[in-house]
Amino acid sequence: MSTPLRRVYVSESAIRSNVERLRELAPAADTMVVVKANGYGHGAALAARAAIAGGATWIGVADTTEALQLRDAGITAPILAWLLAPDDDFTSAIRRDITLGVSTIHQLNAIAAVGGATVHLKIDTGLGRNGASHRQLDEFLEVAAAAHAAGALVVDGVMSHVSGASREADLAQAEIFVRAQQQLAELGVHPPYLHLAASAAAIDHPSLRFTMVRFGIAAYGLEPTPEHANLGLIPVMRFESSVVNVKRLHAGDSVSYNFLWTATDETTVALVAAGYADGIPRAATGRARVEIGGIQYPVVGRIAMDQFVVDVGDADVKTGDVVRLWGNPVNGTPGVSDWAEWADTITYEIVTGIGGRVARIDEP
Ligand SMILES: *Cc1c(COP(=O)(O)O)cnc(C)c1O
Repeated sequence: MSTPLRRVYVSESAIRSNVERLRELAPAADTMVVVKANGYGHGAALAARAAIAGGATWIGVADTTEALQLRDAGITAPILAWLLAPDDDFTSAIRRDITLGVSTIHQLNAIAAVGGATVHLKIDTGLGRNGASHRQLDEFLEVAAAAHAAGALVVDGVMSHVSGASREADLAQAEIFVRAQQQLAELGVHPPYLHLAASAAAIDHPSLRFTMVRFGIAAYGLEPTPEHANLGLIPVMRFESSVVNVKRLHAGDSVSYNFLWTATDETTVALVAAGYADGIPRAATGRARVEIGGIQYPVVGRIAMDQFVVDVGDADVKTGDVVRLWGNPVNGTPGVSDWAEWADTITYEIVTGIGGRVARIDEP
């Protein structure tokens, strides 16, 4: 069998070691690792298994479909799903012991009607996305407390999510979060799990860790923001492809759509079989570099759907040579954060954007 043309290698031991490192950096009674969006493109079940091996006690996902896939894959750890579908009757999720992050009274009623669920109440402390907002909060907490008292469901946690706009803004959200817990306590409910912080807030603000922190991006060895470099995390994924054609150009020859680049001297170009359909951002045209044989070369001309061109000068690059697009920068490969910068985006979007025809190869 030949090597897949485009492939990502995912290191289970890197996830494990990142989770161990994060538990030192941002200790809390419980550690959740978030594996939504197919484990940020790394493979959800693999990420969950490795995270648990590294000491994670909870797994987080966006929706119940993702949660059920993890149960099917044999993950028995507690799983929380917090982005609930409007028409979900929650029966399968509850039967399979998925904890539900609840944002509305409608959801509370639907879940209570099934019976036997464990929920975390999601409070909108200012992010303005999901969760009960300040106008809905009193009634939301009263309905939840009543259902809890009646045994229709168990309120086991309170959660929120911060904006990262500034330290002051995050701390202000935390105050609102604490007030919501107090309000719930006055209604007689004292849930054991209180959580607010994702990677950046958990690392930056000890006071935001409460009883649990939720690590997504950092567990994959990527910095949540450029200010979070050098935390001792190991990039989990490397993206490789192959040189599929090599040719010598004259000065004045152009390459790829719209002729954005023209050779100024005689040079060799290598064609690489990966493009924007595979998650190589077209917006990185004109800025990206890749590594071939230990040396980084510029990507030239427009990045296309299936392929891009690399100017290798007079180097002896051959068809079949391995091309490393991103991986661990200590090995001389560009990092995911380089691609994020070249494409004017964030690391999250690079790894979650990997296309369906890229082979995923698990490494120990
Ligand atoms: C995605 C997500 C996280 C993880 O965020 P990172 O920045 O990747 O650590 C945590 N909590 C919630 C609610 C999320 O949606």
